[in-house]
Amino acid sequence: MSETFTSMNEGRDAALHEPARLSFDLDVDICIVGAGLAGLTVALEAARMGASVAVLEGRHVGWNASGNQLGTVMPGYALPIGELIERVGFEDTCELWALSKEGADYVRANATEQSMPGIGLSEGVLEVSNVDVGDQLIRRLQMLSEDFETEVEGWQVDRVRSELKTDCYFHGVYYPKAFQIDGRKYVQGLASLAKRAGARIFEDTPVVSIDSSGIRKRIVTPSARLRASHIVLAGNIHLGAPLRRLSDTLLPVWRYAGVTAPLGDRLAEVISFNGSVSDTDGIDHFRIVDGTRLMWASPETTWAGRPRRYAGAIASRIRTVFPKLGRVEITDTFGGAIGQTVHGMPQIGQLRKGLWVASGFGRQGLNTSAMAGQLIARSILWGDERWRLFSPFELVWAGGPVGRVAGLAVGLWNRGSSAAAGALARHRERVWPAGPQYLRDGGATDRPQHSLG
Ligand SMILES: Cc1cc2nc3c(=O)[nH]c(=O)nc-3n(C[C@H](O)[C@H](O)[C@H](O)COP(=O)(O)OP(=O)(O)OC[C@H]3O[C@@H](n4cnc5c(N)ncnc54)[C@H](O)[C@@H]3O)c2cc1C
Repeated sequence: MSETFTSMNEGRDAALHEPARLSFDLDVDICIVGAGLAGLTVALEAARMGASVAVLEGRHVGWNASGNQLGTVMPGYALPIGELIERVGFEDTCELWALSKEGADYVRANATEQSMPGIGLSEGVLEVSNVDVGDQLIRRLQMLSEDFETEVEGWQVDRVRSELKTDCYFHGVYYPKAFQIDGRKYVQGLASLAKRAGARIFEDTPVVSIDSSGIRKRIVTPSARLRASHIVLAGNIHLGAPLRRLSDTLLPVWRYAGVTAPLGDRLAEVISFNGSVSDTDGIDHFRIVDGTRLMWASPETTWAGRPRRYAGAIASRIRTVFPKLGRVEITDTFGGAIGQTVHGMPQIGQLRKGLWVASGFGRQGLNTSAMAGQLIARSILWGDERWRLFSPFELVWAGGPVGRVAGLAVGLWNRGSSAAAGALARHRERVWPAGPQYLRDGGATDRPQHSLG
């Protein structure tokens, strides 16, 4: 069971993160812009392989999304697997999926109690559907387990609702090998591991410009200059001046989360599932922390808001999904900006010789940034070219401010239409309680390897 939630200030390891602004010039093999999950993973891997590495972070380690996430680690990408196949074909999708699983395995290997005390790794993630689509679920289960060698179980509506006492969710896909960790401890733990491996991390050191034209590239900060053979841009939506055209390919979405006050026995009466739960439309994402508190992410905006302002929206969403919980008090709030790409796949690769990008990880950044970090470090130091699998996903302009407004409209429409579809599904259920014929008669279970539990 997931036990931990580290609040903002607890999460930082004082000894390892004394503010260390770079105030002298430096020559390194690899300079990384941004100390989020992506930048720190490249740093850790490259330092382990023997490179000299400097990470330049404008604020502090994990300042944005990486230090404000829920810690759920699953295989896959934001882009649904069917669309991935349409885009790059079956063979490449298999390889991409395998890489996303390797990313999750990489997080698991790092997130041990020995190297990250209190990380609280626990197993099992449930993805629930807002609508009654048992037939789609069966297809997904077959594909995941047969074609993509991913362990999954299908849960019938009754099973989902025995663990989550709500009529908002229908079928579920259970991933027994997916897991959750204390997300804040993880990003701080990564920084500690990278430092121990020899990487140097400088906070309060924004990169204001780069010149990537020569063999030795130049990086400028307010109080120092660096030279490096490789630059890795891992600044997500805040990258700004060093390569504004790159930031413009991301649609920024601020996602907010909150943690309730202890809810006592009433929580166990409505939720007995111990892992993370997320819905297929990306509206809700939650899990129990500290035994009797709920950690819940839901509202999104395309402008930067103060997380505290969204406490009411989070409490009301919890009440909509679990009315039996009654009123809940939100005692902690947090949030960060995720960078979404137009095509839904992360940006991983080499823009020109020695200039690398690792961003656009969206709502699913733990496994994908881990994968990106490994791919880039291995390509720079070992010549591993597998990052080219991401080449079909080019840098597409996200539309600037107009794109943000459009993105918000599309996002709201998607969330609204998912909510409407959910309401319709619940209405159908009331007037047709036994469900469609094919589920009642076991038509869904004619493939025994995917029997719905
Ligand atoms: C509420 C919430 C919950 C989430 N839950 C999950 C989850 O459970 N599982 C999951 O897999 N993902 C989750 N995510 C998504 C995940 O957090 C992100 O995908 C991931 O953290 C992105 O990491 P990153 O390193 O690309 O970016 P960031 O975390 O944004 O890091 C980039 C860093 O670069 C720095 N930077 C930018 N420009 C410069 C510059 N010019 N000079 C110096 N430094 C610079 C920034 O200060 C920042 O610290 C969640 C996100 C949110 C907001």
